[in-house]
Amino acid sequence: MSTMRAAVVRRFGEPIVIEEWPIPVPGKGEVLVKVAASGVCHTDLHAADGDWPIRPSLPLVPGHEGIGHVCAIGPGVADLREGDLVGVPWLHDACGACEWCLRGWETLCKRQHNTGYGVHGTHADYVIARAAFAGRIPATDDLAALAPVLCAGVTTYKGLIETGARPGEWVVISGVGGLGHVGVQYARAMGFRPIGLDTDADKRALALACGAEAAVDAAATDAVDQIVAITGGGAHGVLVTAASLPAFRTAIGVVRRGGTVALVGLPPGDMPLPIFDVVLKRITVRGSIVGTRADLEEALGFAARGLVKPRVTTFPLDEANAVFKQLRAGTVDGRAVLVP
Ligand code: NAD
Ligand code: ZN
Ligand code: ZN
Repeated sequence: MSTMRAAVVRRFGEPIVIEEWPIPVPGKGEVLVKVAASGVCHTDLHAADGDWPIRPSLPLVPGHEGIGHVCAIGPGVADLREGDLVGVPWLHDACGACEWCLRGWETLCKRQHNTGYGVHGTHADYVIARAAFAGRIPATDDLAALAPVLCAGVTTYKGLIETGARPGEWVVISGVGGLGHVGVQYARAMGFRPIGLDTDADKRALALACGAEAAVDAAATDAVDQIVAITGGGAHGVLVTAASLPAFRTAIGVVRRGGTVALVGLPPGDMPLPIFDVVLKRITVRGSIVGTRADLEEALGFAARGLVKPRVTTFPLDEANAVFKQLRAGTVDGRAVLVP
């Protein structure tokens, strides 16, 4: 039997180990994808640490920002062929029949499975994808730079839409890491006026390089005042991508009257909401979870037209554990991408 290398979480909070696993066989409606690039999302850390209320079962291969070529087809797959380039996103599949699936909100399906969490993910030589949920990837010669669109891209694109901001309006992107730096680029491309907000000076420089009109130090005691001054009263939309609780408190302070805060980052814990401010300023606080297949198609379109280009550093799969450490330390510039 032929085997593959996989980056595996054996125990929560312990280092990732590289193991030899059997190459999986695609079942009905599935394809086998030979992974060419696999972005490392902060969600992989939450999975490896068992941070969230529902923990994945172990051992687990994390990773849900995959791009690769289809190399085997399961029964009943009509619209993909061997050699096709596909993306492997967080949404492995959904039921297709519930009230949310029927209304084009398959990301809310209660019977969905998630790549690199409920099913094994893309930090491996091969991964199984559902043909109906694999992203169709535009031709590109830089697969590593496109991989982050599969999660960071679609998530921030959708999150920006969910702020309800209109072209010409201010949006604050809180957290300019893997998600946030592409979020700034989408905001620009969508006609918004982005401001980067991050505690780290390098991340603020990255925000400016990605097209932010300003970058503010989230740790400054007057961070909120600075943003209120720049925007003349607060941002119309705020997208919180930081995996840190203080960022969620700041977000309520920087949103304009009538504006919307879209929550995307997922640090464990609760967020205190000042009822008086939320009510009198008619603030909307809304969660946003990745994006649907249609959102992904649109997000990929921006990248295909050159309007969004994730900043990536590539690493061999064997260095998965070192990459996880860097991400934990906050020293990744843009997105780290594993190349098996
Ligand atoms: P990342 O580690 O690459 O980036 C996080 C950024 O937040 C860093 O730049 C860091 O400096 C910054 N930061 C830390 N504290 C801050 C603060 N107080 N204020 C502002 N910025 C601060 O992580 P990522 O891969 O971009 O993921 C971010 C979060 O989004 C994670 O919790 C992840 O699980 C979550 N996520 C959610 C979805 C979704 O669909 N809702 C999808 C993908 C990822
Ligand atoms: Zn992700
Ligand atoms: Zn469903």
